[in-house]
Amino acid sequence: MPHRGWGCIEIEDLQDTRRTCEMCESTEIRYAHHMRHPQFTDVLVVGCICAGNMEGDLAAARERDQQMANRSTRRRRWLTRQWKRSAKGNEWLRADGFRITIYRKRGTWAATVASEEDEKFVRHSQRPYPTADAAKLAAFDVITRLGGARGRR
Ligand SMILES: [Zn+2]
Repeated sequence: MPHRGWGCIEIEDLQDTRRTCEMCESTEIRYAHHMRHPQFTDVLVVGCICAGNMEGDLAAARERDQQMANRSTRRRRWLTRQWKRSAKGNEWLRADGFRITIYRKRGTWAATVASEEDEKFVRHSQRPYPTADAAKLAAFDVITRLGGARGRR
């Protein structure tokens, strides 16, 4: 197995589950760096330090890890933010340049994320969510992917 020349293709928050780093086979990891190598078929799931060594850039791996930690903290606080209630009775929140609305849909819950800067940008959740909280977290993940959550507080 090559020790250098790897690149990170994804980082994943394992939350309450833990895995063992597939490189050193000893570190328990919370944030899983998925590493790929051009001459190696398998993607290895590793911890921060091993990822840094494998890609030859420890600072980059540390920054990814830190971003995930920040995101995790924000995600946990997300549900306890001051959600307002619209005239229709739907909960909504303004965050990071988006307006998030949670509503009932055929017995399940759904979310809409609308940009406050671009009125044409509106995204409706595709999956049904069992609870309002699940729909809120899905909306959080959407705005995080859009880059809205990064670095802003
Ligand atoms: Zn390791």
